[in-house]
Amino acid sequence: MNERIIPIADARYNAGTPSVPADPDPATGRLADAHGRMLRDLRISVTDRCNFRCSYCMPPAVFDRNFQFLPHSSLLSFEEIARMARIFAGHGVEKIRITGGEPLLRRNIEALIGMLAEIRGVQDRPLEITLTTNASLLARKAGALAAAGLRRVTVSLDALDDGVFRAMNSADFPVADVLAGIDAAATAGLRSIKINMVVKRGVNDQEIVPMARHFRGTGHIVRFIEFMDVGASNGWRLDDVVPSAEVIARISEHFPLDPVAPQYPGEVAARWRYADGSGEIGVISSVSRPFCSSCNRARLSTEGKLFTCLFATSGHDLRALLRGGYSDQQISGAIAQLWGQRTDRYSEIRSEATSGLRRIEMSYIGG
Ligand code: SAM
Ligand code: SF4
Ligand code: SF4
Repeated sequence: MNERIIPIADARYNAGTPSVPADPDPATGRLADAHGRMLRDLRISVTDRCNFRCSYCMPPAVFDRNFQFLPHSSLLSFEEIARMARIFAGHGVEKIRITGGEPLLRRNIEALIGMLAEIRGVQDRPLEITLTTNASLLARKAGALAAAGLRRVTVSLDALDDGVFRAMNSADFPVADVLAGIDAAATAGLRSIKINMVVKRGVNDQEIVPMARHFRGTGHIVRFIEFMDVGASNGWRLDDVVPSAEVIARISEHFPLDPVAPQYPGEVAARWRYADGSGEIGVISSVSRPFCSSCNRARLSTEGKLFTCLFATSGHDLRALLRGGYSDQQISGAIAQLWGQRTDRYSEIRSEATSGLRRIEMSYIGG
């Protein structure tokens, strides 16, 4: 496993308080950034803590017992998160992904799901709410999450081989318990379950075909993710990335695949269908085929900072507005200004010049 760990450059505190327009226009449900990309997707991190220490996300040498996680008092409350979600829905957000850290570690997370499920977006449509989890607590929580209104879930699983998986999560957590979580989610009625596998060359790339084989015919969709240079601590090197084209080629040798057209603009995963009709897979090619030109995602950190790119080096402190007595319309106006100025396209301009920047960590902002 890669041991070139870089001490964390803490970018969490780089955030200015956004300016609030004097006379904000009401939200119209359509908000374009400087490149014409509409705001559609909001990812909300509900905790920066995790019970795993995946090497590509929270390397144990950095996220050790001395690491300063955020104090509870700085986290947004569920009421504050729901308020933010309502304001974003007014701007056209259709989909909310709950993430972290490990979101199921946040106590009573199902209560938040219940609050978000009540929000109506443009044309009075309910939002699509989904959650990404390492599944360590999913077998216990799936029923309550489904009852609260969760309809979809994404589970991270990087290998079927127990030894490989236990080493990658650095918590000695077994594959069998993740599979039990996936089964519990299906039994609870969560549909189109996605399984995220981050592929790192020489670490788990031998698991690509076994993962495809295992989940073919189950209705669950495995998404193979290129290892990304997110954050500043995971020792990323281009050589560690297995390009999606290689993933497709390797699977096709065993199970022929045909490309599927995207379901909607801005879909992150490119979809492929097994030629024999036994289901589909996805590949997320943030490194080899960046998709910034259609990126419609905003991210809200655990303590209410808005990031307009996964690779941002600074955020915008919306919590200061939430707790500063501003009205929904004022906060909405501030968000409109921020999104309107957005020019981010990090993955398209990834280069040596940007690699040393003090970026936020994935465990802080969520996937
Ligand atoms: N703890 C939850 C989980 O693992 O599903 C949610 C948070 S995690 C940060 C969200 C997703 O980001 C996971 O699917 C994880 O595999 C992915 N991820 C983390 N670090 C990554 C990296 N360096 N490159 C690509 N994906 C990464
Ligand atoms: Fe935790 Fe998810 Fe990061 Fe793994 S990928 S360390 S489970 S937050
Ligand atoms: Fe979106 Fe930033 Fe990722 Fe590009 S690099 S796809 S702008 S989050």
